[in-house]
Amino acid sequence: MALEQPPLLYFGRDIVPWETARVHVWTEVVLRAASVFEGIRGYWNAAESRHYFLHLERHYDRLERSARLAHIPFHLTRDELPTAVHKLTAALGYRQDLYLRPTLYLDSGRYTTDAQEQTSGFFMPIFPVGRAGSIIAGVRCMVSTWQRTPDEAMPARAKAAANYFNLRLARLEAESYGFDEAILLNSRGNVSETAGASVFVVRDGLVCTPATTESILESITRASAIELLRGRGYEVVERALDPTELYVADEVFLTGTLAEITPVREIDQHTIGRGTTGEVTRSLQALYYDICSSGARDLRGWLTAGPVL
Ligand code: PMP
Repeated sequence: MALEQPPLLYFGRDIVPWETARVHVWTEVVLRAASVFEGIRGYWNAAESRHYFLHLERHYDRLERSARLAHIPFHLTRDELPTAVHKLTAALGYRQDLYLRPTLYLDSGRYTTDAQEQTSGFFMPIFPVGRAGSIIAGVRCMVSTWQRTPDEAMPARAKAAANYFNLRLARLEAESYGFDEAILLNSRGNVSETAGASVFVVRDGLVCTPATTESILESITRASAIELLRGRGYEVVERALDPTELYVADEVFLTGTLAEITPVREIDQHTIGRGTTGEVTRSLQALYYDICSSGARDLRGWLTAGPVL
């Protein structure tokens, strides 16, 4: 999904014009991809004339954990993220769904954890986004020849820019073969995830998804989907998945902040189920979108209200 460039973004501790947010070429973020980030959605609620941001707290926690794993000094206080989101949303004035990218990066401090030598920075753009058409149409996936980086090499559980070198290769390969998305296997040959979403498989009413020890991002939507499915009485098992379990599944769907709940209709040369959105996927979609658009009716504490516009 191509993102429209906004006129302003949050940089350091201020809202600044897009063009003025710059880092030098000789910084750790440019040289060694030393940055960690989050992708967050804001859902426009027309009735209340404000956005509701999904899981701000959980995203803050994961950003903090990713920074800790990457040894990037974390200077963002818990209040700072919602405050920055609030101010920038008001300044931009978009009256549609949003996608936020809070990013923490290392400026200086090559191969050191010495606080005196390390300097880090923070920025956050907010983009207007729509809902991807693939949520209705479904996607065609390819099992990638690229392996998801094992925990011994890179912590896939962290949302670090460096991990996306691995995922980019897989995505580009899939696209070059005419597929929408890549499903990567891990170093044990089990299913891990796609370049931007978690994978779920449904067979005979049982829902399975790779465990967080299968070289996957500790995804927030994945945890939400598991919670919602269990709440609906489905059994959800987190375990290692053979790649051929994908081919014989009744349903396969992807979950993620941007992907939301996306049905998979084909993997390699195999049609999944009847090649249309299955019953479990459909009911999860309905539930998920209902919560995202619930605004002040949110009973789960998943949503944070933005400024009235
Ligand atoms: N896996 C990868 C590799 C991702 O980039 C994303 C998107 N952040 C996900 C899974 C889904 O994670 P989340 O639900 O936290 O957006």
